[in-house]
Amino acid sequence: MPIPTENVGSLPRPAKLQAAIADYDAGRITHEELKAVQDEACKDSIERMEATGSPINSDGEQRASSFATYPLAETLAGTGLADNLAGDGQYFAIFTDGHHRQLPRLTGGPFRYKTYAADYLRDAINMAHKPLKQAVIAPSMLYLLYPLDGEIEGYTREQFMEDLVDECEKDIRLCFAAGAKRVSIDFTEGRLACRNDPNNPWTGRGMLEEFIALNNRVLDRFSAEERKNIGIHTCPGGDCDATHSADVDYAELLPSMFKMNAGYFLIQLASETDKERVYKLLGEHSREDANGVPQVCFIGVINPQNPRVETPEEVRDDLLLASKYIPVERLGSTDDCGFSPFSIDVKPKHGSPDFARDVAFQKIESRVKGTQMASEELGVA
Ligand SMILES: [Zn+2]
Repeated sequence: MPIPTENVGSLPRPAKLQAAIADYDAGRITHEELKAVQDEACKDSIERMEATGSPINSDGEQRASSFATYPLAETLAGTGLADNLAGDGQYFAIFTDGHHRQLPRLTGGPFRYKTYAADYLRDAINMAHKPLKQAVIAPSMLYLLYPLDGEIEGYTREQFMEDLVDECEKDIRLCFAAGAKRVSIDFTEGRLACRNDPNNPWTGRGMLEEFIALNNRVLDRFSAEERKNIGIHTCPGGDCDATHSADVDYAELLPSMFKMNAGYFLIQLASETDKERVYKLLGEHSREDANGVPQVCFIGVINPQNPRVETPEEVRDDLLLASKYIPVERLGSTDDCGFSPFSIDVKPKHGSPDFARDVAFQKIESRVKGTQMASEELGVA
């Protein structure tokens, strides 16, 4: 079987769509008018991703407010916030360029998603000619909606966790029911949990093991056969061409991360300074048998924050080097992250989101070609 290749999920929203979101927040256009612009962006995303030769694609998350907030609010400004939430939650990330992103705050129970990822997928699937994947948010990110200390009156932490696990399981099951071939769980908070940043209190609480246990509560509800197609994505964050935890050593995260019983992992790597060391760590810590499934390591070969397009030869060479440490039957390729996990992202290093979209499709094409070349070289094509 050739080396599999898969994107993480998002693409930059076209400038026209970002303007429409601002108009919607300001009440200048209706939801129907916004949806028409989203439809156009989704169709363009799917068609251009399919044209790269990629075997599996996504709608570029063009309808989502962000990879983390899609279940909770229609837009990043908080339009259409779900019940029992207020806008003023904690920072989940502070980025290297100084900007931050904030989560809502839970004010009571029960906790319910307002939108499931499958609500987007049902529209996308009608536009696609090849299989689609869908990204969903990890329970460990939404766990941060609950106050760090104390309990919400009338809604205990454990009640919240039970509701959260139910909702995350439902989010994944609905994706498969809507026709997703694969579902990956975004786990950007994993590496950030090791950061210990005094400006962002939760990152100093040693929450990684708690996150892993919570995510396994969801994964354990799926059979081994189902978990082959359920992945975990790790990265140091990506927004406005900046990261939030690239200075955290992978050696702190990876031994814990592979305790999650997922069948595959989408792992930022192209932008690491010492890739070979990380390949070695992946070989050491990924498991042949994670409660019935082998853990396939999809290494990042494309950096979505850098406008320079990687060549297929560079992609091939990364995979060949990684294959020295990771068995080829458990090796795949991916992008380091989504190209724009948040809906409002001007892609400053690229100059504009529209140009960044053009670059993204060229990068995906290089990934697909380079992965094919590596498969041939390794005799698995
Ligand atoms: Zn990411």
